[in-house]
Amino acid sequence: MTGRVRSGRELTADRELTCDLAVVGTGAGGGMLIADAARAGLKVIAVEEGAYRTPRDFTQRERAMISDLFQDQGARTTDDGGVAVLQGRGVGGSTVHNTNLCKRIPDPILEHWADSLGLDSWRPAQLAPDFAAVEERLHVSAIDPEKINRNNDALLRGMKQLGWRGGVLQHNRRGCVGSGFCELGCSFDAKENVLKVLLPDALADGAEVWADCRAERITVAGGRAIGLVARAVQGGRPGPKLTLRARAVALAGSAVGSAALARSSALPDPYDLAGRNLHLHPGAAVAAVFDEPVEGWMGIPQSVECTEHIDFLPSSPRRIWIVPAFAHPIGFAAMLPGFGASHMRRLRQYRRTAVLVAMLHDESAGRVTARKDGRPSIEYRLNREDARALTAGLAACARILLAAGAKEVLPPVSSVSAVRGEADLQKIADHGARFGDPPLTGVHPMSTLPMAADPRRGVTDGEGRWHGLPGLYVADGSLFPTSIGGPPQIAIYTVGRRVARAVVADLRGG
Ligand SMILES: Cc1cc2nc3c(=O)[nH]c(=O)nc-3n(C[C@H](O)[C@H](O)[C@H](O)COP(=O)(O)OP(=O)(O)OC[C@H]3O[C@@H](n4cnc5c(N)ncnc54)[C@H](O)[C@@H]3O)c2cc1C
Ligand code: SF4
Repeated sequence: MTGRVRSGRELTADRELTCDLAVVGTGAGGGMLIADAARAGLKVIAVEEGAYRTPRDFTQRERAMISDLFQDQGARTTDDGGVAVLQGRGVGGSTVHNTNLCKRIPDPILEHWADSLGLDSWRPAQLAPDFAAVEERLHVSAIDPEKINRNNDALLRGMKQLGWRGGVLQHNRRGCVGSGFCELGCSFDAKENVLKVLLPDALADGAEVWADCRAERITVAGGRAIGLVARAVQGGRPGPKLTLRARAVALAGSAVGSAALARSSALPDPYDLAGRNLHLHPGAAVAAVFDEPVEGWMGIPQSVECTEHIDFLPSSPRRIWIVPAFAHPIGFAAMLPGFGASHMRRLRQYRRTAVLVAMLHDESAGRVTARKDGRPSIEYRLNREDARALTAGLAACARILLAAGAKEVLPPVSSVSAVRGEADLQKIADHGARFGDPPLTGVHPMSTLPMAADPRRGVTDGEGRWHGLPGLYVADGSLFPTSIGGPPQIAIYTVGRRVARAVVADLRGG
């Protein structure tokens, strides 16, 4: 029987349903898990705290879309406000508004996990067929160099001038018209994501998705996970309960949502690991004004990367990935340094401004816990080595922009208002990270429920099975034991695929 997307807003009384697999969250990990498990013949029901939106709903209006598609209406931060944490909320999760870059986990990271944590099934050769299958399903392809916009071209030019490593990226888009509105949802339905590819498959195979239903607790009985209790989200008020009874349960609410739910459900965690080890890939933006128009909001927002300053070796000081950043006017105003008249002067240069972001492959470890009402609380501070790596990365961004011909470079640190030469670049590198200076944003939370063969070192095994609680699985970016240093969606879709395989095998075996 064909499944469908239902909404908690329809619920007028408490309801109880039975299934093989209950899933929390419908982003990259959950979306793939739901589709694959349903295809294998399991009765799957997923709950998703956000709404179900389709391309018709994506109006390209920045204010409305950010508050509709993002957690906390786009205002999620760490508890102390030091890092903005951008995440999606709704059927499709962060895949609805992400910028579609596709990379695999680098081999040195996978080898490190296998060697240090007994994760042999994550060695590059073992994982390659899964990566390839995911890339094929999501139609991953090289971005056409003709589609490189002028913001990305500034990065390419600067890199070439300096002789630095980097190149054109891969993406999962088909039928893209280059509107530049990716982060507000694609009204042209060109993103090969959960909404377009996996959800239709899952529904055709009988899966049921309950949007506007927030999982509040995982239920455990007789030493097994046996379901969950969710609550309908009806405007500002909590609605009726939706109880799922299941043979298996999977957390796929993201590294923030899954960890908060694990903590508020008091799941077995004898080594107090759940929620610790949060990585965010925090980044900061460097803007630069050119004589000629850049118009970075038009075209594919990110198509070029600089890999000169990242090598993925454990504890390496080279941990910076550089990509263009772009923004529509509200995001641009928030990103630019300064206040009052000087801020306004810079806003007037919007058309001629290029922006790069230095994103950190972080080793600093934050923490997710649950507040009394179950909502996530996020703590994160950069350690000294990470602060040093990040500011060296900001200096590298400024160097690229100067090499590309920028007239004025505006670094996001208070000690340097504009870059005029080599001495200023060194001042940026030496600035270090102070609270809010530079302002940091993290768009890739991961690692809060990490996997390891040994239960003393990880919450799950290498296939996402919760150590010590049969029937419970984790299927999102929480699983990565370390930062992966680049765009994580392909890796997280791959997690969903592997966990689906484990659930199906376990349920068939039992
Ligand atoms: C602006 C931006 C751009 C990005 N660009 C890229 C990119 O170009 N390439 C790339 O690889 N990655 C990108 N990412 C990151 C990528 O999209 C995410 O890392 C990935 O989607 C995370 O997958 P996930 O399954 O862990 O969580 P998500 O995709 O975030 O999905 C989790 C879902 O679970 C739901 N949920 C959480 N808690 C509960 C609960 N208690 N009950 C019910 N539902 C719950 C949430 O509402 C959400 O829908 C970007 C992210 C952002 C913010
Ligand atoms: S740039 Fe392409 S993928 Fe992004 S919103 Fe426009 S059409 Fe969609």
